[in-house]
Parts: sequence; structure tokens; C-alpha cells
Amino acid sequence: MRAFRFFPGLLLASALLLAPPAARAWSGKHHYTINRAAISAAPQEMASAGWKWFAQPMAFPGIYPDLWKGADPEEGPRHYFEPDRLPRHFDLQTLTRDEAAELKRFRLSAADLGEAPWVIADLADRMTDGMRKGDWLDAARAGATLGHYVGDIHVALHCTKNFNGQETRQHGVHTRIESDMAKAFIRPEDLEPPPAEYLPDVFHATLSWIADSYALVPVWLEADIRATAAAGDRTDTEDYYTELWALLGDSVKDRQAQAIGHLASIWYTAWVDAGRPAIPRRDFDELPTASIFSGVEIPTDGEEAAKQTRKKPRDPSAEKYDLIIRAVIAAIALLVMGQTLVRNIRKGGRRGGGGGNWPRGGGNGGGKRNNGGGGGTPSGNSGNSGNRRRNNHGGNPSAARAAARTARRP
Ligand SMILES: [Zn+2]
Repeated sequence: MRAFRFFPGLLLASALLLAPPAARAWSGKHHYTINRAAISAAPQEMASAGWKWFAQPMAFPGIYPDLWKGADPEEGPRHYFEPDRLPRHFDLQTLTRDEAAELKRFRLSAADLGEAPWVIADLADRMTDGMRKGDWLDAARAGATLGHYVGDIHVALHCTKNFNGQETRQHGVHTRIESDMAKAFIRPEDLEPPPAEYLPDVFHATLSWIADSYALVPVWLEADIRATAAAGDRTDTEDYYTELWALLGDSVKDRQAQAIGHLASIWYTAWVDAGRPAIPRRDFDELPTASIFSGVEIPTDGEEAAKQTRKKPRDPSAEKYDLIIRAVIAAIALLVMGQTLVRNIRKGGRRGGGGGNWPRGGGNGGGKRNNGGGGGTPSGNSGNSGNRRRNNHGGNPSAARAAARTARRP
């Protein structure tokens, strides 16, 4: 038993060391960048009406929808749309705003197909209503939230059922391209968004952006294959990411820039459709963190992640400090492991008096490790806390499917 006393510390240190950065498409930093840059990309008439100052609190909440996933099983499908679930060569422009009817027509669930275009169009309408009725806080919430989904659908791998390369033996490609590579190489100042423009039909404009992303799916997957081959069949090396950036950098940068311009276009369209109302001096500095759909709050660990991410865009050196902190934790964990090991060897020596005791002790510990199945309890508990709300949806098969799908989706 003693031989395994250090396990919790080891697990904690391992988790901190090995946990990948948030496994989602654009990282939180990029969602923040997209929303913030879209505020500055407003057409002149909107900017001079006071939009830039009013919209400042809409930048950071661009990351919230990813954090809601942990508390709301219905959040996941809002982040993607998969044209390859539809009949071959299907023209996306023939889809209608009636989501329920379209899902029924193709016998797909929301979790199967994804809901992004409907959610974006609905939130654009809500933003317009808010501006028209003078509920500017709600308009800002709707606009900030839809910014996240606009960012997501400009990511090619949010527009295919092979979203993580699982059908082509390219597991992890999602995070490699859109989070790890993008974070390492893309600088906001290098992005050149197209000018914002009025959109006569936000829903069908969104579908055309999805079609553009979908067309890039084979290109992005092929780049992953070529970069892997160039790096000696490895994807965890600098060679891999350097080659991947050489092959895909321009494409990924362009998608992010397009997302910024398109988001600014939706916000501008909402304002024009609302009748170009005077933009008030806002009486809020922050937007609520709760989901605009269900009202669920961001789980506690998500709030902590949010705080950390909030600092990152302002402080590029933060990643260095992360590394230092992780190195210190690793050193402490190794020290504790070493001390425990020495203690056990000494005790084993005192008890059995033979050098052969350590392997025997290890064998005993192995037996007890099973008893310590409760050793998994801490992580099990944190999972349960996230599951409480999921259980509320237990009677809803589509919600359950969405939850299962969300759980395995980046
Ligand atoms: Zn997302």
C-alpha cells in the first residue's frame, strides 16, 4: 500500500503536465481575437455611431460557449455542421430556416448534423430585436455568443463528420491544426479580414461559409498526412508543425480572417435591420457568463480556465510562466516519489532484510492498487459534478446522444 502512497500526487502532476491545452477548435485565445477584431472591423457608419466603445465587453465572452459544454449537454451541436451527413452533392443553399423540418427530412438528429447555421441565424435575429427594442445588453450577449459559432464554422474540421481524423487514422488532427498550430504561429496582426458588408440573408450566407470550410477538409487532412510523413511518421515534433504550417498556414490564417470579416458583417446587418438605432452609452462593463440558451453557469473549473485565458491575450509571456510552473510541479512530484521510494525500500529492508523485498512489495502494491480503485474517485467525482445536470436530461434520447457526442468531440 505504502508503495503507492504517492499515486495521487503523481496523478495530479501527470495530469497537469500531460493535459493538452483546451482541446477545442480555435483556442480560447483565437475566439477572443475573432470577436475583438470584429469589433474594430465595423463599417465606418457603425463605428462612428459609437459601436467600438459599446462593443468592448463582447470580446471576451467569445470563449464562453466552449465552457458551457461542460454543463449543458445540448451545447455541443451548436458548434458544428457536417455537410457530409447529407446526400452526396447536396446543395446547402436549398436548406431552410426550419431546423426541425430539415432534420426530419434527412432523418438526422441535431447531434448528428450540427446546428450552427440555425443557431447563428437565430442569434442574429435576437441581436436585431435587442437593438430595435433598446435591450442592448441582450443584443450584446447574442452578438458575442454568435461570434463563437461563426469562428467555429470557419474551421474546416467543424464541417465534416471526420472531425478528428477518426475515419482516416489521423486521430488528434483537429487539435493539431486548429489549436496547437494556430496558437503557435498565428499572430492577430497578420490577419487581414475582408471588409464588413450588409448580408441580405444571414442563414444562407452562413451556409456558404460552411461550404467554403467543407471544401478545405481534404486539403487540411492531406497536409496532416504529408507533414506526418515529413517528420518521420511523428506528429509530436517541431518538424511536423513546421511542415504543417508551411502547407496550411495561409489557409488557416485566411479562415480566421474571413471569420472576423463575416462576424462584423452579421453585427452590421443586425444594426441596419434594427433601423440603425443610436448606440447608447452602455451601463455594463461585462456580459453575464451564464449560457444565453439554458442559463447554466460555466462549471467552476471552466471559470478558472476562463480567468487564465483572459490574461493570455494581454500577456504573450504567460505561456513561459506556465512551463516554469509545470516544471516546478514535476520536480516536486519527482522528489515526493523519490522520497517515498527510498522510505519503502528502507522499511522493506527493515522488515524482510533482503534486497528482494522491493519487487515483492511492488507485487503486493499491485494487488492493492485494485482496492484503490477508489484512487480514481477524485476524477470520478469531478465527472459526476458535471453529470448532475446531464442527468436532468436523462429522459431525452437526443440530449443523451448530444452529450455522448460532445464528450468525444474536440
Ligand atoms: Zn466551439
